[in-house]
Amino acid sequence: MNTATTATTDTSTAIAAIAPLLQVEHLQRSYQLPRRQLWRAPETVAALQDISLQIHAGRSLGVVGESGSGKSTLARLVMALDRPSAGTIRLLGQDLNALTASELRALRRHFQIVFQDPYGSLDPRQTIARIVAEPLEALEPSTAAQRRMRVAEVLAQVGLRDSDLDKYPHEFSGGQRQRIAIARALITRPQLIVADEPVSALDVSVQAQVLNLMQDLQQQFGITYMLISHDLAVVNHLCDEVVVLYQGRIVERGSPGELFRNAQHPYTQSLVGAVPQVQPGRARARRAAAAAATAKTA
Ligand code: ADP
Ligand code: MG
Repeated sequence: MNTATTATTDTSTAIAAIAPLLQVEHLQRSYQLPRRQLWRAPETVAALQDISLQIHAGRSLGVVGESGSGKSTLARLVMALDRPSAGTIRLLGQDLNALTASELRALRRHFQIVFQDPYGSLDPRQTIARIVAEPLEALEPSTAAQRRMRVAEVLAQVGLRDSDLDKYPHEFSGGQRQRIAIARALITRPQLIVADEPVSALDVSVQAQVLNLMQDLQQQFGITYMLISHDLAVVNHLCDEVVVLYQGRIVERGSPGELFRNAQHPYTQSLVGAVPQVQPGRARARRAAAAAATAKTA
């Protein structure tokens, strides 16, 4: 490597360290609905309007909003599964919609998604080994044995076993299926995971287990999360900052504590009212204290 290349690499590393991992600016997405009458212009839905947000590496941003507020649209745009009508999305400093197909493919290993539905998002005809290895196939060539080893490694990280490799999705509970979906996201060692309602389909007791797993993985690997939920209690568990989406716009933002204490927008107030038993930051504080105690005794 010549010195010029080294200098560039150092500079870009330094920039990456201070710039947000994800930066969304003035994002808009509208959809045209099918024309209902021949002589009328088709109607459009503004799913997202003027969304700006950023997430720094290793942090978690919660996105809360009711059904239809634009959460999944935001997730699809950030994952480059759909294109914005206006605005920019930068991941690791790169404008997602300015990349060539092969540049985007190369960048994809750094961001992965976990969907809500643990029943619909895993192909029922494939084994766990195939499902979890799938994101690797588009990347560097590897042998079947290498892939299997890597799958076994990520399954262990999410609390599953080697013996699960050759099973099929129907052999697992909802919570276990979400662990499988998380393993599939982890396999490329991504920096950002977008989780779109990852625990909404699960029982409350199982929700906490999956959220705790996500938090442990963040501590272990420094993963950055965009956690989408209609439930403020869920984002409170994991996030230091929250944006509230309402009809495609961000109507409020702040720490979960600030929102619980002093929600300004009526929609946020109704969200807070829906979780009266939650004390902001309690779960996180408790887990941090437990981690500190373990570190001391270790
Ligand atoms: P959420 O995930 O918060 O429930 P969505 O992002 O799925 O919300 O949807 C936001 C709005 O955009 C809704 O009004 C929805 O009907 C509309 N929408 C989303 N995707 C499309 C699409 N492909 N075509 C037309 N309308 C869409
Ligand atoms: Mg949705």
